[in-house]
Amino acid sequence: MTETSSVETFEIPPTSRTYVHLQCGRKTTVDGEEFQGLCNPFAGLLGVSTFCVPCRKQAALNDFMWADTGENLAAYRKRVLRSIPRGMRVRTRLLRAAMLIVPPIIGFVVARALMHRGAIVVPALAAIGGLVVGVLGVGIQMVADRRDFTVYR
Ligand SMILES: [Zn+2]
Repeated sequence: MTETSSVETFEIPPTSRTYVHLQCGRKTTVDGEEFQGLCNPFAGLLGVSTFCVPCRKQAALNDFMWADTGENLAAYRKRVLRSIPRGMRVRTRLLRAAMLIVPPIIGFVVARALMHRGAIVVPALAAIGGLVVGVLGVGIQMVADRRDFTVYR
């Protein structure tokens, strides 16, 4: 029994790929960092959107399809995500959840210990500071994640 579904790969990893904006029917070619981010199902903390160059509109991935395979971009990312071994998916999510949860708790607990009993404003601010640190940590982890998903067709 296997938990992963197989994903077809390109024989030669592409350096760019073209997508079609469903609203206007026109094409945009992506390469470099944008191409990497578009293919990486772990990229994007608050959801991912992309840009149609001909009509200069930013839109959800659901509004685009790959020109070569005709697959919807949102469906493509879901499929690639499903192909990743479950352990790796869980580790990435746990790491990010821990980065968002642990620093605020530490900030709150430490500030609380240093303050008068019953003080709440400073510990609350310390918790917010911890959250900012956590969000930055997740952002850095995303940028540092060099896994290449562009090979997935
Ligand atoms: Zn367009």
